[in-house]
Amino acid sequence: MTSRNKRPDYKIGDIETRLSHAGMDLSGERQVVNPPVYHASTVLFPTLADLRQASDSPFDGLYYGRFGTPTQRALESAYAELNGAEGCVSVGSGLSAITTVLSMLASRGQHMLVADNVYDPTRKFCDGLLSGWGIETEYFDPARPDQLAECFRKDTAGVFIESPGSMTFELTDVPAVSAICRAKDVPLVLDNTWATPLFFDEYEHGVNIAINAATKYVVGHADALLGLITCDATWYRPVRSAAIALGQYAAPDDAYLALRGLRTLALRLTQHEQQAQALCHWLAEQPEVQQILWPAWSEHPQHDIWQRDFTGASGLFSVLLSPVSDDALSAFLDNLRWFGLGYSWGGFESLVLPMNPATCRTAKPWQQEGVLLRIHAGLESSEDLIDDLAAGFERMRSYS
Ligand SMILES: *Cc1c(COP(=O)(O)O)cnc(C)c1O
Repeated sequence: MTSRNKRPDYKIGDIETRLSHAGMDLSGERQVVNPPVYHASTVLFPTLADLRQASDSPFDGLYYGRFGTPTQRALESAYAELNGAEGCVSVGSGLSAITTVLSMLASRGQHMLVADNVYDPTRKFCDGLLSGWGIETEYFDPARPDQLAECFRKDTAGVFIESPGSMTFELTDVPAVSAICRAKDVPLVLDNTWATPLFFDEYEHGVNIAINAATKYVVGHADALLGLITCDATWYRPVRSAAIALGQYAAPDDAYLALRGLRTLALRLTQHEQQAQALCHWLAEQPEVQQILWPAWSEHPQHDIWQRDFTGASGLFSVLLSPVSDDALSAFLDNLRWFGLGYSWGGFESLVLPMNPATCRTAKPWQQEGVLLRIHAGLESSEDLIDDLAAGFERMRSYS
């Protein structure tokens, strides 16, 4: 457990070393490398005095299963150590991490500034429940931080961004937005699921609260849902309290799977990046491909920001195809051998999904013609993946 007064061993060791050792507690009787998986609701106290003492600081020790056990604590402290966050709160899904933070930040009559390219369910939460609670959301162009300062109001409670957006991959200049937020004394929240702390260090770039849908790369095997929220010193306690108040909780088996996934995250991300690189190179040669939307691609409109702020690129990107009929698109997608057609990403297996950003944009409408395909480059051989795509393009061409 990250203590409030003593920072964890902040950035001691390279990231690969920290991934292997973070959150490991071999104190006391423990000699086993990994933490036990506690399936717990009730925690028993030997005496009334012990029960009262535990009630005084329920976040810190063992109190009641919903507050977490050494299983969730091991994951939380490991993840917080990666980027030197003050603390980490684990919850049941990436979306619940987002809704917990948004519910905590704003109250009735206040205003939130949200980037136009956020994950669509984030937007639905803002336009649905938050709006019903009397909190107004204003969307801004993620690529134009210069326009952001004038959007602030006296009652602006927070700024929420996702960089890159996980559908259209615009980047936000986080240091620029952070400077504006600091001047206005408003917290900056980043959904950092795409880069993870390995490829984008949130706290070095002035973020106050960072969200990771650990369902994706941290778990990495498409077998659990989990959300991780890290915070700076100001926001750790409020976020922890909000998660408890909302009944948020990460199931112990899923927390264990996430901790296991964390140990190999650097290896997997490096491989996902190389795969994406190989696929983008091949895709760029196809006549139907109008644009590659991957920040590491040199023609990405904000490639310079990626080069300045990121230390790598993960394996999720989109390609914009010239317009095709629905039948042609189905012929491509229905018969792929290795690419699965389905939601989520970050697992070992490759996925493809058609996207329509036009339905979830307001600040900067999506006006590109054509079909946007989002691809998650998995860990298969890149030759096999390219062969699969090539066969798909051939099937699609036979329709035109
Ligand atoms: C998938 C995703 C989420 C939500 O995660 P779940 O665990 O599926 O709830 C949030 N943000 C981004 C960027 C995502 O891709």
